[in-house]
Amino acid sequence: MSRLKSEIAAIIAAEGPISVERFMALALGHPRHGYYMTRDPFGRAGDFITAPEVSQMFGELVGLWVASVWQTMGAPGKLRLVELGPGRGTLMADLLRAGRVLPGFSEAVDVHLVETSPVLRAAQKASLAGRVAALHWHDRVEDLPPGPAIIVANEFFDALPVRQFVRQGGVWRERLVGLGADGRLVFGLAAEPEPRLTQQAGEGAVLEVPLVGHGIMRALAQRLVADGGALLAIDYGHLATAPGDTLQAMKDHKPVDPLIEPGEADLTAHVDFAALGRAALAAGAVLQGPVTQRVFLEALGLGARAERLQRSGSPDQARAIAGQRERLVEGGRTGMGELFKVMAVTHPGLPMLPGFDRLTTPAEASGEEP
Ligand code: SAH
Repeated sequence: MSRLKSEIAAIIAAEGPISVERFMALALGHPRHGYYMTRDPFGRAGDFITAPEVSQMFGELVGLWVASVWQTMGAPGKLRLVELGPGRGTLMADLLRAGRVLPGFSEAVDVHLVETSPVLRAAQKASLAGRVAALHWHDRVEDLPPGPAIIVANEFFDALPVRQFVRQGGVWRERLVGLGADGRLVFGLAAEPEPRLTQQAGEGAVLEVPLVGHGIMRALAQRLVADGGALLAIDYGHLATAPGDTLQAMKDHKPVDPLIEPGEADLTAHVDFAALGRAALAAGAVLQGPVTQRVFLEALGLGARAERLQRSGSPDQARAIAGQRERLVEGGRTGMGELFKVMAVTHPGLPMLPGFDRLTTPAEASGEEP
């Protein structure tokens, strides 16, 4: 049994079954045994791979986006460049390199990384030391200093814990993690229904409520409205709110049972972009997109960037770049092009930003259902 599993079993034995949200928070973020706290999970040898690890082109295009938004903001002499959950620091390294094309950008930014994992903080330091004048780490978004900011989050919101509710007999009951007779962790349901959930749905439907992610989005949207700037969120998820169990554990690039080895597998839930967008709009920010990752990267010039890199490399390198480009924009269940969505949240004074084709203001949204 993993050490975390015995710890979770002890908590349940003492306090009773715990919410999926608490289970997920422990599995990923337990200070000693949480998944992200103990390892670097990326790459071929790890459990999963992310877009910046697939290709430098991803971070470079995000870097051009960031630099152009900075220019649109009036090129402030001081900008907080924030990344949420920066992993190995690869995206930020590629972003900073690409951002150098705009004079003054590199001098204007101070980099703030929101990261809880000591292992990944060390990896970020190794990737970024010397590339930027000032690097700061924070445990929580609430600790970020004020001021105009551009915030980037790739595969961050999917790592935040969600609550789950199951429709049973005409009511919603919270899904809990408890202990089976044989000592295994098992899913169960709360005895009392949740009175605040009033949606209709068929028997057995699962509703995910990402309160943690929405709280973070609300706080960030409020600061963008107050101090200026934009947030770019890239994640896998769906455009419309719909019931469905998306809790997923990955180990060695394969899905596994989320309860078997907590702390040993990555655990995620798909991002509900419609709900995340509503959290930002409710805080007074403007919403741009979401669009698919394919649309976003192609609008930013992925094709031209790939061709340029292909021309300057060997035939083998050219083939590798073609493969990376395909991976980033490909559809279907294995490609990142359609599963991943990109959304921006901005200060109301900013115009439509590169890569987007749709803008929603809080006033337009207030007519919609909350
Ligand atoms: N953006 C990176 C890594 C994505 S994995 C990439 O694209 O490669 C998720 C990242 O979020 C990891 O760095 C993880 O340690 C961090 N993370 C997870 N939960 C977090 C939390 N609650 N607060 C801050 N960082 C968190």
